[in-house]
Amino acid sequence: MRVLKIVEGTSVDGPGLRTSIYLAGCNHHCPGCHNPQSWHFDGGREMSQDELLLVVTENEAPVTLTGGDPLAQPRQVEGLVRRIKDELGLDVWCYTGYTWDEIVADEALRAAVAQVDVVVDGRFVLAERDTTLLFRGSRNQRLIDVAATLAAGEVKLFDPQNNNLFSAQ
Ligand code: SF4
Repeated sequence: MRVLKIVEGTSVDGPGLRTSIYLAGCNHHCPGCHNPQSWHFDGGREMSQDELLLVVTENEAPVTLTGGDPLAQPRQVEGLVRRIKDELGLDVWCYTGYTWDEIVADEALRAAVAQVDVVVDGRFVLAERDTTLLFRGSRNQRLIDVAATLAAGEVKLFDPQNNNLFSAQ
């Protein structure tokens, strides 16, 4: 996988101190994107799943996949998430520019997030920008509890304040 950078012990990409893995490449090109240099698919450096697992294992911390858009590499993400869950049992968040509807409509994207705990969905929308939001940049983006959403067949949001679930409006 093409990895732009790995940030260890960050608290801005989900609850707790996490290992954030920035994957290269994004096709969404949102106006106002805070990180347009991440759009290039040949950015960063190639890292194997084993190398990434080693970093994650050493940190013993929950993991966030971000970028770029991790779901631009859905098969690789599916394999990495499966190993983090099955071998390490760690919480995994995934940021993506795809909406939940777009994810469930696409077999590869759906498989990529099946074992993710929380998906932060949707493109960054400059007109919806809100710096007071926790773990997301614009109001259209949602913190989606994947297991609850798949079980219910409708979007269930993750509430980071209370860790409670509540239905999407
Ligand atoms: S999805 Fe994220 S990385 Fe991609 S253009 Fe939008 S804000 Fe930037």
